[in-house]
This record gives sequence, structure tokens and C-alpha cells, in this order.
Amino acid sequence: MGGGDGGAVPMTVTRVNVTTPSTADASQKRRKQPANFQCPVPGCGSTFTRHFNLKGHLRSHAEEKPYQCKWPGCGKGFARQHDCKRHEQLHLNIRPYPCEGCKKNFARMDALNRHLRSEGGAECRKLQEELTPGGPTSQTPEGSSEPVAGPSSMKPDPDGGWGAGGLML
Ligand SMILES: [Zn+2]
Ligand SMILES: [Zn+2]
Ligand SMILES: [Zn+2]
Repeated sequence: MGGGDGGAVPMTVTRVNVTTPSTADASQKRRKQPANFQCPVPGCGSTFTRHFNLKGHLRSHAEEKPYQCKWPGCGKGFARQHDCKRHEQLHLNIRPYPCEGCKKNFARMDALNRHLRSEGGAECRKLQEELTPGGPTSQTPEGSSEPVAGPSSMKPDPDGGWGAGGLML
């Protein structure tokens, strides 16, 4: 084993100065594409050419709201804990569908109807039909979703009712 060629590699590198217009052309290739995807967040309005980019952008919006409503099925996000707490209060206090029979208040109309259709709500249903001919569905307070009073003056019972004595109609 022993060659010892020692031959010097001929330095025949022909250096070509690359000043062809092809490189300059590459930087100009980022053509303007139509922004097809717009951020749905109110007040943002950022536009994106790819759905992938919009998805990443939306994630950044979510991270701005670290406080999330713990109410099942809601999951609304809030930037400030104060706002989140106040929102969660709404879930507890707004029960715009009262049962005239047992004075229980329901947050949703289908919950009230289910109560009226159940065996336990049979008496309530009779009473309700006497008070509101046509059934409870004809009296949906759609527009009046405002709370009647602050949580300090009206405290709902933990089991869901306001108490028959406090709210006489
Ligand atoms: Zn946005
Ligand atoms: Zn909520
Ligand atoms: Zn009832």
C-alpha cells in the first residue's frame, strides 16, 4: 500500500461571475396572489392566500383569550378574567323561561317544555295552560334577554328556583 502519487490537483476551476439576471428574477417571482381567506374575527379582517395560514392566525387570536367560560357547551374565550366571570354569571342568572306551576326558572325553552311534559310537571302544565292559553311556547320572551336585576338583589336558589315567596306575580 503506498502510492505517493502526490499529484497536485490542477486547479482548473473556471470561476464564472454569476451575475446573470436569473437570480434577480427569482426575487421578483413572489407575485401578488388574491387573498381568498379572511379572518372572521370582528375588527381584524386580515386576509390570507392559504387556508393553512388563516388557521395559524386564528390560533393566535385564541391565545389572546386565556380565560374560557366553563359553562358546558359554551367555551367562550375572554382576554380578561373579569369579563369571563361576568359572562359566567349570565349563565347562572338568566333563566327567562319560568314555570308558573312550581316557580322554577329554566335557562332554555326546551328545558321548560321537557319539564312540563314530564310526569313531575303535569300539575305545572295544567296551571301553565290556565295562565297562558295556547301553551308556554306562545309566550317566548325572545327580545327580553336582559337580566331583571343584579345578582346582589336576587339570589337564585342552588336548586334552580327563585323561591315562590320572593317573586309574586
Ligand atoms: Zn384575525
Ligand atoms: Zn359562556
Ligand atoms: Zn314546574
